[in-house]
Amino acid sequence: MAEVKLAYEWGDGVYTLLSWFKKEKVKDAHVLVAGAGALGNEVVKNLALFGVGHIYVVDFDQIEISNLTRSVLFREEDAYNHAFKADIVAKRAMEINPQIKVTPIVGNLFSEVGFGLYNSVDVVIGCLDSRIARYQLNRLCMRAGKTWIDGSIENMTGAVRVYAPGKSCYECGLSREEFNNIMLRTGCADVVRTQGKAGRIATTPISASIVGAMQVQEAMKVIHQEEGEETPFKTLEGKMLRYEGLTNTMNIYKFASWKSNCPAHERWDKITQGIELSATQTVTQVLKKLKDALNANMVEINMRNNKFIDKIISDQPEKEFEVMIPESKLDAYIKQNEELRKLSYRTLFHKHFYENIDKSFPYKNLTLQQIGIPLFDVIEVSTDKGVYHVELTNDASLYI
Ligand SMILES: [Zn+2]
Repeated sequence: MAEVKLAYEWGDGVYTLLSWFKKEKVKDAHVLVAGAGALGNEVVKNLALFGVGHIYVVDFDQIEISNLTRSVLFREEDAYNHAFKADIVAKRAMEINPQIKVTPIVGNLFSEVGFGLYNSVDVVIGCLDSRIARYQLNRLCMRAGKTWIDGSIENMTGAVRVYAPGKSCYECGLSREEFNNIMLRTGCADVVRTQGKAGRIATTPISASIVGAMQVQEAMKVIHQEEGEETPFKTLEGKMLRYEGLTNTMNIYKFASWKSNCPAHERWDKITQGIELSATQTVTQVLKKLKDALNANMVEINMRNNKFIDKIISDQPEKEFEVMIPESKLDAYIKQNEELRKLSYRTLFHKHFYENIDKSFPYKNLTLQQIGIPLFDVIEVSTDKGVYHVELTNDASLYI
């Protein structure tokens, strides 16, 4: 006998009882969740229960047995299958609510998620466990003009901070020492140092539930915000909510920091859309299309933070290695290559790289993806007519 399915709309007769809840807004909302660990599990679960229509979840990591203790969407088999966290979170969230779409992105949120996605979502939720990742996410959100909701957990405590462009910025709140440490670890120096894996943070499922729940509650407020319209909400914008489980206290602190000279405040608010570009096209194709569409004599793609490295040179022995990868993949590349890995313990590597890609670039038959530009990215293009921020619009259909 065929299974009889009931026709229903998620939340009818439930959320419709809430005076503030706007069903259409929630259904149409696009939310990016950075990180699919303990917090990411809780956050995506709650977004799914609310019926948030479009969720993107980004994580490069695979599931391990130790994750099961505080990740409500993971199962034992996922750990044995070495499944990716983002894939499983997406799959299980759509089992909870089949009326929403959850898109997993297995990769690094900084180098493998196109800026077009940051630009097109309503709000970003950070479920991260390192300062470097927060620093990078903050830069992207400020550049896109998006509010982001940061959650952190440790042992029986947790905190939620809301950063909003023009009001509060993660980078502005860093001490000089914290900032220098990030610079060193992100390899902004021209010397390669391999990074160790971030240590495991001891925490509990309770902290993850409480912080993840508060993050989604703040996200719902952002989704319901409309310019010029009054809402009944008090938000955590520019504030920190801190929960202390040991003593059952919850406090809100003023946390806003916005300095005038912070490099993170660079806003890309004029995006050129509609040129038929994709990260799957070759450098030759893209340079030609840009030249034609922007009516320019000279075009140059600025690689910003992710340079293309064609070779690295070791000190002792003095030797060159051809690598042909974006900078973001160098650390993993060295660890996987036996000769380089052994050498990396006692020698430094110097990079030979390309920061700007123009007609003199020697590897023009590589695709944008191969040189480190993700699908649906927004690329910075210098021309004789000025600087443009150009979306790889052909890739939009992959996500939106
Ligand atoms: Zn700042």
